[in-house]
Amino acid sequence: MERTLFEPEHELFRESYRKFLASHVAPHHDAWEEQGFADRSVWLEAGKQGFLGMAVPEEYGGGGVVDFRYNAIVSEETVHGQYSGLGFALHNDVVAPYLLSLANDEQKQRWLPGFCSGEIITAIAMTEPGAGSDLQGIKTRAVRDGDDWILNGSKTFITNGINADLVIVVAQTDPDKGAMGFSLFVVERGMPGFERGRNLDKIGLKAQDTAELSFSDVRVPGRNLLGTEGMGFIHLMHNLPQERLSIAVMAAAAMEFCLNTTIEYVRDRKAFGRPIGSLQNTRFVLAELATKTTAVRLMVDKFVELLNEDKLTAEEAAMAKWWSTEEQVDLINRCLQLHGGYGYMNEYPIAKAYVDARIQTIYGGTTEIMKEIIGRSMKLS
Ligand SMILES: Cc1cc2nc3c(=O)[nH]c(=O)nc-3n(C[C@H](O)[C@H](O)[C@H](O)COP(=O)(O)OP(=O)(O)OC[C@H]3O[C@@H](n4cnc5c(N)ncnc54)[C@H](O)[C@@H]3O)c2cc1C
Repeated sequence: MERTLFEPEHELFRESYRKFLASHVAPHHDAWEEQGFADRSVWLEAGKQGFLGMAVPEEYGGGGVVDFRYNAIVSEETVHGQYSGLGFALHNDVVAPYLLSLANDEQKQRWLPGFCSGEIITAIAMTEPGAGSDLQGIKTRAVRDGDDWILNGSKTFITNGINADLVIVVAQTDPDKGAMGFSLFVVERGMPGFERGRNLDKIGLKAQDTAELSFSDVRVPGRNLLGTEGMGFIHLMHNLPQERLSIAVMAAAAMEFCLNTTIEYVRDRKAFGRPIGSLQNTRFVLAELATKTTAVRLMVDKFVELLNEDKLTAEEAAMAKWWSTEEQVDLINRCLQLHGGYGYMNEYPIAKAYVDARIQTIYGGTTEIMKEIIGRSMKLS
């Protein structure tokens, strides 16, 4: 299907990002899978070449263009290359909007230049061992002490958690105020009492660091409060739709990649004296999957346009997130089946796609929570 989302300048950007991936990621990704995280040097190179902070104003070293299509290109090409160790989407799509919309001028001066150069790798820490979907169950607590805050608690499953220099931490600041009792804090590498736990052992995304973080009497200066005290949840609600669309962008790209790799495979592989692509079942399965891939692509591209126009609603982002990721998981499962036993072998791209995809319906808000968001908006009861 011909896409109408991009202009020639986006395609030039795509070309240069592809070259970056070929030179600075492809030769190292297997080693990063072994070690469980990407080297910091790739962040510095990405920063140098303009692939971090495209939406950050030029005065802070960013690209100065608020246009999510650039973010989408980074994600699409990263997915097409199966370079799942790069945490750029978390940095550009998820964290950047918090810093751009909530940081004051002094904070922007302190953090954004490093954000764009790759010297400051970022993360966001909402989830705790006892609170994932139910964010109001967060127990990490910040208590005021003079101008500072004393932070205690622990977070888990934090993407970029090992490499991160700057972590946006969601903490309870006033337990009596319910949803209005949470605030966001920026915790920086080296603050006493801020420790990283294990780099978690996942079934997929092997080169992506996902960690536990703990905070024991961390003294966070008042100037590291991000946004307004007590408005943490409102800030999250405002920014989560972009995070969810970012995941949908990856899902659409993964569907296209896996469909294409499977089409190539069934053309070559023979059974009973003919290519398995000539079997009616194969054609029917791939016809169905091509149709679904096209439908997901149409939805995602339209929603990227809406996001750019500041019109994407929370419900629409939830629809894109749950539906695209469920279709992604289903498509990859069925494509793997068409590979037979080879699909179960790690050397085939479909095997890697299978394990990497499984988290997509879970992080950023599970399918069930997305359906809750959509259902609630219908005022059914
Ligand atoms: C690789 C990876 C990276 C991640 N990155 C980050 C990150 O960078 N930052 C961060 O903060 N978090 C991150 N997460 C955490 C992720 O967002 C949570 O795992 C997710 O939100 C689900 O929370 P949970 O694991 O506690 O599951 P639970 O909330 O315990 O859910 C378990 C099951 O119950 C269902 N359920 C829960 N509530 C309801 C309900 N009301 N109605 C119906 N069903 C319900 C869920 O849908 C799910 O199926 C990451 C997780 C992983 C695995």
